[in-house]
Amino acid sequence: MKLVTYLQDGRERVGILSPDGAAVRPLPCVDMNALIEGGDLAGAAARAGEAVPLGAVTLLAPIPRPRQDMICLGMNYKAHLEEAAGYDAGAFAKEKPVAVYFSKRVTEAVAPEGAIRSHPGLVERLDYEAELAVILGKTARNVKAAEAGEYIFGYTVVNDVSARDVQTGHKQWYFGKSLDGFTPMGPCIVTAEEIAFPPALDISSRVNGETRQAANTALLINSIAEVLEELTAGMTLLPGTIIATGTPAGVGMGFDPPKFLKPGDVVECEIAGIGVLRNTVE
Ligand code: MG
Repeated sequence: MKLVTYLQDGRERVGILSPDGAAVRPLPCVDMNALIEGGDLAGAAARAGEAVPLGAVTLLAPIPRPRQDMICLGMNYKAHLEEAAGYDAGAFAKEKPVAVYFSKRVTEAVAPEGAIRSHPGLVERLDYEAELAVILGKTARNVKAAEAGEYIFGYTVVNDVSARDVQTGHKQWYFGKSLDGFTPMGPCIVTAEEIAFPPALDISSRVNGETRQAANTALLINSIAEVLEELTAGMTLLPGTIIATGTPAGVGMGFDPPKFLKPGDVVECEIAGIGVLRNTVE
């Protein structure tokens, strides 16, 4: 099923999208984090309320306020690793096939149709990264790769917006990834049972209608199963944890000359079966 968070009459709710996407039925829960942690999606779905036309509500990010920083993978598609190393070998070259992990503060995720903030005066090289995000549904500790699929609640689309000058100006990427308005998410969460594991989904991005990224999530260097086994060997991951699996080639810094974002640009990130996340730079 497809789950959304939305505003109706000023109140935040969680709901199930109808199969045609034209309506939403509210679920009895406080928010998406509570729904995931409650561990009884089927029970909540059985008590869904009356359908409301989608046009009568405003979509928010499916998890507007993640409980913890998002876990991110860097350099996780081969062609993107090559383009990033071409832009700045000192910052992005990777000699070993080990996963690159970093985290991203998401004080408030940007809604579908919401604004990417350009931070004039702080950021000169604003970039986009379409990514498949995995949301965990259970406490994960010592997970074996073969069982990894059982820990997944669902999937969504994120744009891992990045300030390249801030990102590479510090030894760690954290600041340049974590600015306010840097994590558009949505438009929905597709629950795990709807997508065969591991996901092999077309992923793409467009800026002002021009295709920039086009790949498939089957091309991840470090797979979701490998990442879950590796991280949980020494680290407990809680329900609601969001893991952004990395972006394919075609980000702005990968072009010569680079194609960074500017106010007014419309960025669309799309994953087949999940939807289009469309945001405007302001
Ligand atoms: Mg990224």
